[in-house]
Amino acid sequence: MKDAFIPFSRMAPTPSGFLHLGNALNFILARLFVYRQVGKLHLRIDDMDGIRTRKEVIEDIFYSLDWLGLNWDTGPSGPEDFYARFSLMNRMDSYGKAVDTLLENKLAYACDCSRKSLAAQGIMGAYPGLCRNKGLYSETMKTSIRLQVPENTKINMGLRTQALAEDFGDFVLWRKENLAAYHLASVLEDDAMGINLVVRGADLLPSTAAQLFLAQTLGLQNFPAAFFIHHGLVAGKKGEKLSKSRGSHALCEMRESGISPAGIFSFAADFLHLETKDKIQDIETLQRIFNDCPEKHPLLQGQGFLEISI
Ligand SMILES: [Zn+2]
Repeated sequence: MKDAFIPFSRMAPTPSGFLHLGNALNFILARLFVYRQVGKLHLRIDDMDGIRTRKEVIEDIFYSLDWLGLNWDTGPSGPEDFYARFSLMNRMDSYGKAVDTLLENKLAYACDCSRKSLAAQGIMGAYPGLCRNKGLYSETMKTSIRLQVPENTKINMGLRTQALAEDFGDFVLWRKENLAAYHLASVLEDDAMGINLVVRGADLLPSTAAQLFLAQTLGLQNFPAAFFIHHGLVAGKKGEKLSKSRGSHALCEMRESGISPAGIFSFAADFLHLETKDKIQDIETLQRIFNDCPEKHPLLQGQGFLEISI
């Protein structure tokens, strides 16, 4: 990493379920990278999907971060502060304006297809742009709004090139429930905050490509210049994604079954191939070990895009 790079990253949990071991690893990695370079960390709870957000899940985020000893420099101090000042639901107007601009410039379009109607036509993966030329328009945004991804759009992501049109198709920016979709809200928030380091799971590689294309289409400056680290995922016992698994990998369940943060820090140290003699009891100790590992460590060589496997 360049000396002059002062990272500003974020922990951005989606509160559709309780935090799990994969989230903990993601937050720890972001924290280690950021504080090694004397950067700053923001907490952003991605509740743009307000209809699915449960109060106990929001409370669990703060409790779990405290349990792990993970602090942050900017963002909500607790659930009350989150609802009052930081909920993304309060930002829907600014997301809506971005979509309006895209609609005016014919870079996005209204779509009234439902998952059901698409399935009935045998369309399961990338959306093939059925409504592109229908000229649907809804003042009240009761339809979804999709971004046009021209044929053969390819996004260069360091080691790989993502074929966005084939893999993703015209993706949803605005949902028919009159809410911003994840990609739109996430990219606008990252850009507005000036986030320059995004640490996320490798499952989000295609999403990063989609967001880069969206950022480019919106004419954003900060997001396309960010440094992206995609890391391998912690899998469940049967190899399933933890966000889809139930129970045993949720941090609240781990706490109840007597697992301590020390076990999670050791797991993170193994993931990063850090040499440790003793059990790591707290995040500060793990940070010191990471800070002491030499610059030539492969994890510190990235610029632009870095992929690390588990
Ligand atoms: Zn449609």
